[in-house]
Amino acid sequence: MVIGAGLAGVSTAYYLTRHGVAPVVLEKDEVGAEQSSRAWGFVRQQERDPIELPLMMASNALWRDLQSELDADLEFTMSGNLGIARHPHQLEAYRRWQAVGDAHGLETRLVSADEVRELLPGIRGEWSGGLLTPSDGHASPPKTTAAYAAAARRGGASIETGCASLSIDVREGRVRGVRTEKGYLATERVVCAAGAWSSRVLRPVGIRLPQLRVRASVGVTQPTGTLVPVASWTPEIAFRQRPDGAVVAARFDHADHDLSLTSLLEARSFLPTFRSTHERVHFHLGALFLRDLADRALPRCVGRDRARRWAVGVARTDRRSPEHALRTLKQLFDGARDLTLADCWSCYMDITPDMLPVLGAAPGIEGLTIATGLSGHGFAMAPIVGKVSADSALGEDPGFDLDAFSVARW
Ligand SMILES: Cc1cc2nc3c(=O)[nH]c(=O)nc-3n(C[C@H](O)[C@H](O)[C@H](O)COP(=O)(O)OP(=O)(O)OC[C@H]3O[C@@H](n4cnc5c(N)ncnc54)[C@H](O)[C@@H]3O)c2cc1C
Repeated sequence: MVIGAGLAGVSTAYYLTRHGVAPVVLEKDEVGAEQSSRAWGFVRQQERDPIELPLMMASNALWRDLQSELDADLEFTMSGNLGIARHPHQLEAYRRWQAVGDAHGLETRLVSADEVRELLPGIRGEWSGGLLTPSDGHASPPKTTAAYAAAARRGGASIETGCASLSIDVREGRVRGVRTEKGYLATERVVCAAGAWSSRVLRPVGIRLPQLRVRASVGVTQPTGTLVPVASWTPEIAFRQRPDGAVVAARFDHADHDLSLTSLLEARSFLPTFRSTHERVHFHLGALFLRDLADRALPRCVGRDRARRWAVGVARTDRRSPEHALRTLKQLFDGARDLTLADCWSCYMDITPDMLPVLGAAPGIEGLTIATGLSGHGFAMAPIVGKVSADSALGEDPGFDLDAFSVARW
């Protein structure tokens, strides 16, 4: 049984079907109800943590054949990823990361300011240069999530939408079943892939997962002619152009953290992360704090209606951030001058203190596997997360040492 039908859950379900297993996926809302259909869409290995990079590279290898494997158009384009440095110290940071890429055999090279202008014709501004990873790319998050779900269903998985898991039944150190909104389901194996809710799913069975939610926003323009041939990041914004010509743009220099009770309780674990990102992350005190307080006071009521009512997974759309991103895009490209926002949205992404995922067997509970904490990297990582989680759940060798990703690291 898999809890959550975001990318982590549906990709795990799909790879389980490849082992001949037909899992049940429980989803409190719809497939891709939260982060997985709202991601920016970058499939990026560049600048990943060296601990995570081998998984990310393996995921990238799976992405290359994913459209034919899932028999669906995912809009996957391997156009490369270009990080652009405005100042020499930013180029220096790219140079340092290039050494990480080299050590892992990932083709990545520094490019000059002239090459930046060749790769992004018409870009304005003074640049020091950039870092290009040719095998990076981008794709459609909603299409990918739907395609994994469809392929899992074809393989025999059943996805129960509108059916929240209320609690995992653990007795004598073993998983026995799951209490759901629609009744009790006996099972010996559970994969927790509940995204931003995973800490809440795991807490009642005695597992502490430090997890916070960071609000990120994104805007999409109407389609236009070729403007951005390569997915790119300046120090201020990230942008990519979809095959239909629409440009997806988001602020890279700004994210919001709505303070919750968990923010205070986990403050010590997250302090180093917030110290290193304090210029980018802005703190707000609002309704989420009270929701989280009530959530902890009444832990047994985790039903779907309550989850919907409190809507902690999907954030109210904040147009200011996408509008700012579009203004910045217009300053970069003449061709963007007349573009307007056709759509925009905000969503909470779940992050862990070290911004690394939580993968593998849950210590001390036989039959429980965790696939969560994807910390803003889970779209690119979805194929490998699903694959290693399916292997782990079945007690097979995932082909990677998952110790560094164990929930026991806290
Ligand atoms: C705005 C934004 C931009 C991003 N951009 C990128 C990007 O460009 N590249 C990249 O690699 N990553 C990106 N990410 C990160 C990526 O989207 C996530 O890491 C990934 O989608 C997480 O997948 P998930 O399945 O763990 O979580 P989710 O997609 O959130 O899925 C969890 C699911 O579990 C369900 N659930 C929760 N609790 C229960 C319960 N008790 N019972 C049943 N169901 C439950 C939820 O309803 C939800 O559908 C971005 C994230 C955001 C928010």
